[in-house]
Amino acid sequence: MKVLVTGGAGYIGSVVAARLLEAGNEVVVLDDLSTGHADAVPAGAGFVRGRVHDAAGLLGDALRSFDAAIHLAAKSLVAESIRHPELYEENNVVGSRLLFDALASAGVRIVVFSSTAAVYGEPDVVPIPESAPCRPLNPYGASKLAIDEMLAAAAPERGFAAVSLRYFNVAGAYGPYGERHEPETHLIPLALAAAGGQGELQLFGDDYDTDDGTCVRDYVHVVDIADAHLGALERAVAGRHDVFNLGNGSGYSVREVLLRVEAVTGTTLPVRVVPRRPGDPAVLVASAALAAERLSWVPRRPDLGVIVADAWAFARRRGVGAA
Ligand code: UDP
Repeated sequence: MKVLVTGGAGYIGSVVAARLLEAGNEVVVLDDLSTGHADAVPAGAGFVRGRVHDAAGLLGDALRSFDAAIHLAAKSLVAESIRHPELYEENNVVGSRLLFDALASAGVRIVVFSSTAAVYGEPDVVPIPESAPCRPLNPYGASKLAIDEMLAAAAPERGFAAVSLRYFNVAGAYGPYGERHEPETHLIPLALAAAGGQGELQLFGDDYDTDDGTCVRDYVHVVDIADAHLGALERAVAGRHDVFNLGNGSGYSVREVLLRVEAVTGTTLPVRVVPRRPGDPAVLVASAALAAERLSWVPRRPDLGVIVADAWAFARRRGVGAA
């Protein structure tokens, strides 16, 4: 297949692009490098620098040659989305609408979209099934939900074979491809940086209603996430929009993650407990039964120790922990 990967210079997108190439696909990355890195685009992929808003103009007639698009380009910082909701409307929602228009005009009908567990907000039931009510707690989650709904409408109208993949907590790395967010907000890379001597780790709240008082999340390896996209490309059904949660179905508390980071890095982490981060639900764990059933998706790297070890190997490549 020839696949357009928007956001393919970012963390998850670079792994998606790498796995697509390894499976024998042709890949072109579209990324404006606002948060991505040119050197994260895998060798062997084509690269077009620009916004998804301009896909039609940037790719021109070449867009017709694609079989599918995987759309990951987005702003994804929760705190920023609360301060500047308009950026999330303009970048995520408007950009996706323009991209989908361009794809429809060019006859590209297979669309896999990078959605998120943040669409659910505070869940009533854990593990969370796709049928759970969507009540996002911030403009980031709301923007992703709006795009899911856009695809639900576009699939029957435009003949899209559309899939939304709702990621839980993506972590780990794949060789040279890993998390390089600026600013970094995610637990595992921040804990690894602290293990490498780059400051202390702030633990956001130990008074939640969980076994050890810290938040519980479903950490899933970025390679497993990437491989779900390959499965979705193959199994997307024309005229339909399907939604799949992607997680391991097991939750780890922040304290458990920090213990695993200490074990992998052989350090004692400097940790300071600080007040809760606004908008953090106590427990988010996926039911990914539907992805197992319909995409034959079985996470191959569910072990948190492996996830942390792979992230640590990547952090060390980038100089973390170098004396
Ligand atoms: N967390 C923390 N300190 C940090 C970053 C995150 O205690 O510096 C906690 C956060 O409150 C949440 C969990 O770690 O309970 C995972 O947060 P992350 O930002 O990695 O992902 P999220 O679940 O928000 O998507």
